[in-house]
Amino acid sequence: MTGPMPLTLASIRQAPKAVLHDHLDGGLRPATVLDLAAQCGYDQLPAQDAAALGNWFRDAADSGSLERYLETFAHTTAVMQTAEGLHRVARECALDLAEDGVVYAEVRFAPEQHLERGLSLDEVVEHTLAGFREGEQLAAEAGMPIRVVCLLTAMRHAARSLEIAELTVRWRDRGVGGFDIAGAEAGYPPSRHLDAFEYMRANCAHFTIHAGEAFGLPSIHEAVAFCGCERLGHGVRITDDISDSESEPKLGLVANYVRDQRIPLELCPSSNVQTGAVTSLEKHPFDLLARLRFRVTVNTDNRLMSDTSMSREMLKLVNTFGYGWSDLERFTINAMKSAFIAFPERLRIIDEVIKPGYAVLLG
Ligand SMILES: [Zn+2]
Repeated sequence: MTGPMPLTLASIRQAPKAVLHDHLDGGLRPATVLDLAAQCGYDQLPAQDAAALGNWFRDAADSGSLERYLETFAHTTAVMQTAEGLHRVARECALDLAEDGVVYAEVRFAPEQHLERGLSLDEVVEHTLAGFREGEQLAAEAGMPIRVVCLLTAMRHAARSLEIAELTVRWRDRGVGGFDIAGAEAGYPPSRHLDAFEYMRANCAHFTIHAGEAFGLPSIHEAVAFCGCERLGHGVRITDDISDSESEPKLGLVANYVRDQRIPLELCPSSNVQTGAVTSLEKHPFDLLARLRFRVTVNTDNRLMSDTSMSREMLKLVNTFGYGWSDLERFTINAMKSAFIAFPERLRIIDEVIKPGYAVLLG
């Protein structure tokens, strides 16, 4: 026994990690964006070499302007409109996550945003899943096995959520694990898509909801109380229902319910700062929520726009809040317990991959 391994980016990369909230169209390699744009004749990219393009994505996401932030996704989805484009992006996503030490990933995207060049919703899903399968196979051959599950997102400002919920159920035994809604929160409450969530519940199918990121508590309340979501995408604004005016933080009805029901919070530290959900990492409620024993999980959201990875997000939390290996292990097990795969499979990854992996690092 040599004691715990020092916490560095390199050692955290060796730790087994699980991510529940990662967007396929937010995680492309800059070089791939350039290649695919050339292949499909897309000439609107703001930079012509990989380094400059990577910087542009990060700066646009950092700018504090929602328009510039959303513009970044116009470029990535523009090059993901063909079978080849979707397949390649999905394959590289699986490989990049595996190289970072992620052993279980749920990667989401909105099929309705990939129909511009004639693919059907089912074809979009089919090619994306094929890319994930190839990426998993290549990662396993390289000695870094990963399981990738796909979540299908509906855009909350659009009217296709029931259709996407049906698509999710149609593909659930073939690599799709669940459903989600995303997009501008204000003005588009989750209850607007109640029929889609009722369809998911009627089919015993999993779903999460982006809520409590830009918009406050009402959005979280609707997501858990009206829609019955199993997890909250971000959910950082649950702090609106926690008063820390006294020495002991007091939880309101919604916060208590979320904690009592063990509803997982898919927290994305860097992204939450970039989108203004919190003002700085130091002010991120991650640590408060972790101490109050909410089921907190660490996530990347958009690796390209935030220039990040699971290991980087964990290192930022370590540097900000002083976490050790056992904390990182707990957050990882929280994520794995909350995964949209069968219970025995979750247990197997926890017992056979995560616990032994952290035991080595703990020394
Ligand atoms: Zn998200």
